[in-house]
Amino acid sequence: MMAYRYDDQNVFARILRGEIPCKKVRESTHALAFHDIAPQAPVHVLVIPKGPYVTYDHFALEASEDEIVDFTRMVGEICAMTEVQPGMGGGGYRMVANSGEAAIQDVPHLHVHILGGRLLGRMLR
Ligand code: ADP
Repeated sequence: MMAYRYDDQNVFARILRGEIPCKKVRESTHALAFHDIAPQAPVHVLVIPKGPYVTYDHFALEASEDEIVDFTRMVGEICAMTEVQPGMGGGGYRMVANSGEAAIQDVPHLHVHILGGRLLGRMLR
C-alpha cells in the first residue's frame, strides 16, 4: 500500500491548531466545516477531517470508523444546507475532493469542496 506523508505546516493544519482564523460553519469531534477564502460560488464550504490525512483514499483507508462516520455525516449536513439555498439556479450542489498532483490539490490536507447557490453547469465531458 502507498505510504502517505503528511505535512503538518499546511494551511488547514494551521487552521485546526488555531494558528490562523477561519469562518467556521460547523465543528464536530472529528471534522470542521468552514467557508472557502476564495469562493467559486455563492455557497463554497470546505469540510476537513481533523486527523492528518492528505487525500480521500488516505482517509478512507486509514481513518477509524468513528472518524469516517463523523466526517461523512458533516459532509452530508453541509450538502443538505446547500441543497436548500433558495433561488439562484435552483437546488442541488457539487461535492469535489481534488486529490494529488493530477487534480492540482493545493492544500495537502483532505478537504471536500461543497458548492452551490448558482447553476453549476457540467464539470465532466
Ligand atoms: P485548488 O486551489 O486547485 O482548488 P484545492 O482543491 O487544494 O486546490 O483547494 C484548496 C482550497 O482551499 C481553495 O479553494 C482555496 O481557496 C482554499 N483556501 C486556501 N487557504 C484557505 C484559508 N486560509 N481559508 C479558507 N480556504 C482556504
